[in-house]
Amino acid sequence: MNLNITCIPGDGIGPEIVAEAKKVLNRAGEKYGFYPDFTDILMGGASIDVHGVPLTEEAVAVAKAADAVLMGSIGGDTTTSPWYKLPPQNRPEAGLLKIRKELNLFANLRPALLYKELAAACPLKEEISAAGFDIMIMRELTGGLYFGERSTVVEGGIRKATDTLTYDENEIRRIAIKGFEIALKRKRKVTSVDKANVLDSSRLWRKVVEEVAEHYPEVTLEHMLVDNCAMQLVKNPAQFDVILTENMFGDILSDEASMVTGSIGMLASASLNDTKFGLYEPSHGSAPDIAGKNIANPIATILSAAMMLRFSFDLDEAAGAMEAAVKQILAEGYRTGDIMSDGCKQVSCSEMGSLIAERI
Ligand code: NAD
Repeated sequence: MNLNITCIPGDGIGPEIVAEAKKVLNRAGEKYGFYPDFTDILMGGASIDVHGVPLTEEAVAVAKAADAVLMGSIGGDTTTSPWYKLPPQNRPEAGLLKIRKELNLFANLRPALLYKELAAACPLKEEISAAGFDIMIMRELTGGLYFGERSTVVEGGIRKATDTLTYDENEIRRIAIKGFEIALKRKRKVTSVDKANVLDSSRLWRKVVEEVAEHYPEVTLEHMLVDNCAMQLVKNPAQFDVILTENMFGDILSDEASMVTGSIGMLASASLNDTKFGLYEPSHGSAPDIAGKNIANPIATILSAAMMLRFSFDLDEAAGAMEAAVKQILAEGYRTGDIMSDGCKQVSCSEMGSLIAERI
């Protein structure tokens, strides 16, 4: 089986961490009988330097022809890099917004997983972190408040700004279906998060999610108000499996959930459309402060590649083997600098990639 994968190494540590994810995917392919066929494209600052724009139409066409996209990270030091003297539409981040739009990526998945070996990095009380947690936040990415009509006017000498939050039932249904499908591959529980005590859009959200739930009797559905969810994430994160929510609530809750793991170099993410296609990338940025030093943590990118195997290619066993290899390496005490603690063995980015590949 050939996997047609477009890679976007990007900027900063991007090329270093993507190289390690490719190494681990190649090893998983040897073991589980698939062949990853990688084609690299330029995006972000790397594309600006060569083509003068953060993403060319040719690069978009290559990504669209692929089965999935694996990305490192884009962007530079926002205070010193010349890329940030360009108009906003020509800066590195514009490439990312463009590719998300072109690929119609409406569902964003961010796992927040606390590894017991890294529990010391978790800022929660020990009795809470001891239980561990493994949460998948599924955020709607193309609707809601960030995409509604907005205006700023002056009325009778008073400045007034308006943003609108709109969802139609189709937008809610397609993300809800994704949420339930993903719950089937996990612990079969969906917590749908809204503000149905106040917002009409949330009341429609709740109704449509309940309609979708009828088709998934194996999955338990619960509803939670967003303010309560923000609290529960620090009080009892172990209660969650899949959190399904709209764009702005998901933006805030996914950052909160990632912070409670305490390890940014470990967090994967995926953005999906309504086919099997997805763009997979670590949750962190391009870390220009450590770029080119071979000290970055490649695990978030390797775990993003595992998500790609699971969600775009249904290669669940190979994905599980990559995740298990990461756990094993941590249990053996290997760490990159960002997650280093007393008594552990510090390794470089490329050594970490090789160790994980060897454990598959
Ligand atoms: P960042 O995530 O790049 O870095 C924050 C801190 O975490 C830094 O100290 C960095 O060294 C460390 N860090 C991040 N990833 C690491 C890893 N894998 N291993 C070890 N340490 C790691 O965030 P920032 O500094 O705010 O942003 C830097 C650039 O990245 C900016 O240009 C920003 O716009 C861009 N960015 C891109 C994306 C993306 O491509 N999706 C996401 C976020 C930020």
